[in-house]
Amino acid sequence: MPQQKDHSFDVIVVGSGASGGWACKRLAEAGLKVALLEAGSPQSDVNFTEHKPEFQLKYRDKAHELIRKTRPIQVKFGVCNEYTYDWFVNDLEEPYTTPADKPFNWMGRLRMTGGRTNVWGRVSLRFSDGDFKSASLDGYGENWPLGYKDIAPYYDLVEKYVGITGSAEGLEHLPDGQFQPAVPLTCQETLFRNRVKEKLGRTVMPTRSANLTKSINGRGPCHFCGPCERGCMTHSYFNSAFTTVADALASGNCTLISNAMAYKVLMDPDRNRARGILYIDRNTRQSREVYARTVILCAQSQESTRILLNSATPQYSTGLANSSGVLGHYLTAHVRSGGGSGEFPAFDSKPSLGGPVKPLGVYIARFRNLPNTPPYKKFLRGFGYEGESSTEFNWDVPGFGEAYKKALLEPRTRIDITGFGEVLPRWDNFVEIDPSVKDVYGIPVLKIHMSDGENERAMIQDMGDSAGEMLEAAGAKNIRTYAHPSAPRWALHEAGVARMGADPKKSVLNQFQQTHDVKNLFVMDASGFTSNPCQNPTLTIMALCVRSCDYLMSELKRDAI
Ligand SMILES: Cc1cc2nc3c(=O)[nH]c(=O)nc-3n(C[C@H](O)[C@H](O)[C@H](O)COP(=O)(O)OP(=O)(O)OC[C@H]3O[C@@H](n4cnc5c(N)ncnc54)[C@H](O)[C@@H]3O)c2cc1C
Ligand code: SF4
Repeated sequence: MPQQKDHSFDVIVVGSGASGGWACKRLAEAGLKVALLEAGSPQSDVNFTEHKPEFQLKYRDKAHELIRKTRPIQVKFGVCNEYTYDWFVNDLEEPYTTPADKPFNWMGRLRMTGGRTNVWGRVSLRFSDGDFKSASLDGYGENWPLGYKDIAPYYDLVEKYVGITGSAEGLEHLPDGQFQPAVPLTCQETLFRNRVKEKLGRTVMPTRSANLTKSINGRGPCHFCGPCERGCMTHSYFNSAFTTVADALASGNCTLISNAMAYKVLMDPDRNRARGILYIDRNTRQSREVYARTVILCAQSQESTRILLNSATPQYSTGLANSSGVLGHYLTAHVRSGGGSGEFPAFDSKPSLGGPVKPLGVYIARFRNLPNTPPYKKFLRGFGYEGESSTEFNWDVPGFGEAYKKALLEPRTRIDITGFGEVLPRWDNFVEIDPSVKDVYGIPVLKIHMSDGENERAMIQDMGDSAGEMLEAAGAKNIRTYAHPSAPRWALHEAGVARMGADPKKSVLNQFQQTHDVKNLFVMDASGFTSNPCQNPTLTIMALCVRSCDYLMSELKRDAI
């Protein structure tokens, strides 16, 4: 393949999502020359369709079979639909493989500036010291090489910029943050919160979410139109495309190179230094090289690890920066296949298709295996719940004709809650390169090996049972619960495949997400998570990334990189 060479930069950042956006903003605003390589296309307000009704679409958003032809995996999650499908990877062009007995749905693979933050659920929660030091508490796995006090100032910084709505609850295991005013609870949510506290001592709170309730930086407050996953013209939720990346570009120091599919890190073997990235231009299919003093991978956990595995050299024959041998191992995610729903007829009101639609609901803080409480016997670690309430038409009613029309109009006021539980890091959940399959750009693909263990299965069962218990405590009617084993496994919160640690023999990255082996190579997405607590990961991804960028700049200043 003919190769073309691009200019040199101070830093190359691969990926423009939650982590890459912050890396570019922090470094470019500090004066470093940054090249941002993004596999996807540029994002823009003209692509946003949050106010477009279904009847204006060619197929009324009903032709899932058509989308399935090119995106059979992505379409399994509703955010990939007729409005947005071309933001997502074409599964046929960019496949991955799994063992036959371990199916895994790798969803949420975006190919747009902003990455997954285009469509994310925006739930934004801090980790606590109990999470960073969980191995000391229950003896399983490894502690993180940093503690809460190390990251707390960066949580503050990120929250103030991103704009997180929420309420202070004073929980040690779910620390409060720099919140914008909370979105008020609905009547049934308030009843649920009060009764669950009163009868079970558990905390139900307004979801801590990256939706603005007050203007900041030219972004307007949320006006409750609902489908944030289709974009937001008022920039009221956080999407790195119109926040961090836009700021980085506005600094004049960041060059966005779109449709650039990073293949491997280029190395200078004599000096043991990364010198750039080899990427494939998705439009021309030509390979190109770009050079810099430092390389930062922010392509999402499995994608960054794939780049490292594909960058093997004679010196690092099992993958770049893999002298420990742990690269690709300890893949974690969240289990989320237990939960329940219940009806609250006392709060029934006239349903409407016209909104307003509150884009967030409630969060139930973890209540199992908290520090300073006796260990729960059935499993290690814990889970929280995301929940939402709604008043809807009675869509499930059987029948037809006049009687059906009447029954359809009977309102159903409900609360639905879904558990999000920690998956323990295990050696045998891992990714590797499948040497027999390449994507359309000629890049070897990943083979993902992931399944639930005993701990996850026991946790899923408890998610269903505890959901029923709380809905009952709140006086809900027609309670339904579920607890399915999560096969095929799927996740949107994958982490841990290039984990951080103090010991270079057991980890790939140090606490600043710098590879132990190659000093000018960093991985600043969730690959570095030493464990994956039940709280949604992205706030921590962003705070860690800013912290690591500050470290990188101090190291560059003293010529240590
Ligand atoms: C539907 C959905 C709901 C979610 N809800 C929540 C939530 O409520 N709360 C929460 O905390 N998290 C949530 N998440 C997860 C959250 O979006 C991710 O944790 C976060 O975006 C990860 O950031 P990242 O920087 O690692 O990767 P991403 O944001 O995915 O960005 C990675 C970028 O890298 C690019 N890229 C990939 N490979 C290459 C390559 N080889 N070369 C160049 N570029 C490449 C991609 O195109 C992409 O733009 C959700 C995710 C999804 C999909
Ligand atoms: S609900 Fe709010 S944040 Fe979501 S798209 Fe509408 S205005 Fe934007």
